[in-house]
Amino acid sequence: MTEGTERGRILDGSATAKTLRREITEGTTLLKQQTGRVPHLAAVLIGDNPASETYVAMKQKTCAKAGIVSSLHRLPSSAAQQQAEELVKKLNSQPDITGILVQHPLPSHLHEQAVLDCVSLEKDVDGISGNSLGRLISAEPAHPSCTPAGIIELLKRYNIPLQGKHAVVVGRSIILGKPVALMLLNRHCTVTICHSRTPDLAEYTRQADILVAAVGKPEMITQHMIKPGAVVIDAGYNRVEGRNGDVGDVHYEGAAKQAAWVTPVPGGVGPMTIAMLLRNTLLAAQGRFAE
Ligand code: NDP
Repeated sequence: MTEGTERGRILDGSATAKTLRREITEGTTLLKQQTGRVPHLAAVLIGDNPASETYVAMKQKTCAKAGIVSSLHRLPSSAAQQQAEELVKKLNSQPDITGILVQHPLPSHLHEQAVLDCVSLEKDVDGISGNSLGRLISAEPAHPSCTPAGIIELLKRYNIPLQGKHAVVVGRSIILGKPVALMLLNRHCTVTICHSRTPDLAEYTRQADILVAAVGKPEMITQHMIKPGAVVIDAGYNRVEGRNGDVGDVHYEGAAKQAAWVTPVPGGVGPMTIAMLLRNTLLAAQGRFAE
């Protein structure tokens, strides 16, 4: 990826997600014609976190546009662990429900991963149960976690070669850094994972053919940290006082001068995430109705 001198080409997540949503809508229409059934995403919302309310509402609206039925299953913020787990198990057993999304974060008294782990493998369209993540390690089929899968899909749609490339992932969270690193590894990248205890971060990022920033620190990746001609994926979105809209983890203008390809914020990784949730939900329904 050091070849070529073009700089700052945009990996357009908004346009790519729009294409994906159109394909998904076609898929749900076809599924309905063939089976008389449609995908059904059940969203579990525990507590009253305003951001979670907004995310769930946005996901349901996008589902509706793609011909996917959705339902909302609420528990109060005082819900006990057993109540939360029983709700998920009940949704697992309902044949009309083809996908389950447990909106996180859960209230802090709950063991979040234990609730997520109750989602059956077939219905885990968010791809973050221990079962789904474990399968990523062994490269076995499972619904992929949505933001990492969105990153991989974006790279694929732009024909960015991965095999043999050095990918550096900054961040090691369970929903983003670790799964995207594994997905890149499964596609034959040589992968380095950096985190908050990595000394001299720039020494690593400057070696990256593909640099994924998944940190949550506004504009932390600056121009001098990027290899000329690299592909830079900015998964971050951060609210910064005095700035309009969200700010990525990468300093966009600097990256555009140095990198061959870069994702903007907004309009990069963000729209891909929800598109992948819809795709996972469609694939889960196709799998179920084919049984
Ligand atoms: P987390 O806070 O869970 O993880 C952040 C990671 O960054 C940690 O692994 C942490 O290291 C690492 N880190 C923190 N500071 C530094 C540093 N100075 N140098 C190197 N590494 C550092 O965040 P998430 O993974 O959940 O999210 C990351 C970003 O992606 C956020 O901006 C978030 O808003 C965004 N995001 C975007 C989504 C989308 O749909 N576009 C979806 C999910 C998240 P350590 O492990 O050592 O603490």
